Amino acid sequence: MQEHLQNELKSIQEAGLYKDERIIVTPQMAEIKVKSGQEVLNFCANNYLGLSNHPELIAAAKKTLDERGYGMSSVRFICGTQDTHKELEEAISKFFKMEDTILYASCFDANGGLFEPLLTDEDAIISDSLNHASIIDGVRLCKAKRYRYANANMEELEKCLIEAQDQRFRMIITDGVFSMDGNVAPMDKIIALAEKYDALVAVDESHSAGVVGRTGRGVSELYNCFGKIDIITGTLGKAFGGAIGGFTTGKKEVIEMLRQRSRPYLFSNSIPPLVASAGVKAFELLDKENTLQDKLHENVDYFLSKMQEAKFDIKPTESAICAVMLYDAKLSQQFAAELLEEGIYVTGFYFPVVPRGEARIRVQLSAGHSREHLDKAIAAFIKVGKRLNVI
Ligand SMILES: *Cc1c(COP(=O)(O)O)cnc(C)c1O
Repeated sequence: MQEHLQNELKSIQEAGLYKDERIIVTPQMAEIKVKSGQEVLNFCANNYLGLSNHPELIAAAKKTLDERGYGMSSVRFICGTQDTHKELEEAISKFFKMEDTILYASCFDANGGLFEPLLTDEDAIISDSLNHASIIDGVRLCKAKRYRYANANMEELEKCLIEAQDQRFRMIITDGVFSMDGNVAPMDKIIALAEKYDALVAVDESHSAGVVGRTGRGVSELYNCFGKIDIITGTLGKAFGGAIGGFTTGKKEVIEMLRQRSRPYLFSNSIPPLVASAGVKAFELLDKENTLQDKLHENVDYFLSKMQEAKFDIKPTESAICAVMLYDAKLSQQFAAELLEEGIYVTGFYFPVVPRGEARIRVQLSAGHSREHLDKAIAAFIKVGKRLNVI
């Protein structure tokens, strides 16, 4: 097997698909230092609200570390639940205006454990083709009949719903924001179709929670459809502090059943208390005032308008993800490398992560970016863009 793996790894490298990791030697924030000593501005973290290194979250984590210890050494139902875990679940339910919430070690686990406890071979799951890998895996673990529709394509969704009418229950599952383009799922239309064809609606808000909607309440706020989405999954690893942890929030019977039957919940350790209480603090901050959400939206608007002014080709976006289209794979890698030399850290994506011929640079904006950070990034984009004949 060793030889086989060596050959496989070599072919991954030769195909230009080998993933290298850059080592950061500072906290995760807008200005970071990498191991080579270079100081760069980070535009590729999911740190949408700048909470990854927020003093109030750190203080809450330290306090809990002293008061509640380091680890739980247990799954939730044996002896792994503290008051901090319950407080976080309540905070999440309140934030999304749902009845109850269940925590997981990650959103990958939340999605992995969502479908199998609720649906059987009598039922149907109808999934957007650009849904996250964890949804795809979660669907695979469940015996329900699978239907797939092209990204945000409502005609195809309707066709799937019609085909699935003989099944007992139908569940539509979609990402709230799609991570490569930054587009939002058309929740108004999805909900209308779900009502027409009697289906449940589940949304993974990993990239949308904390980001879209005036106060960051996600797609329910953006489309003013609170109460019409049955199930929301999300992560604590992006906007809400970026540490670790995932959740599912929804109707109380759904959450109760997941606590009884969801395998990643039943057979995997609790999140550390310090992460739970820093999470509570994150939701408290976002509840109290709207400064971070406003700052993020202001930064997105500013960056987009300046980049469009400079004639960059930007995918329509309604989130904090800005896809700068370059189309050519090699160009996307060269562009990202030259931006790094200019002190701007972004990632170039190409096939198979995005469709062939749709290579791009993905910029992720944050409330942690200052106007100066944005101006520096825009200036670097323009400089490299002109040098490489993109603009
Ligand atoms: C990031 C992401 C996840 C995984 O979240 P983790 O908590 O890091 O496991 C799941 N779904 C979507 C849509 C994501 O973007």
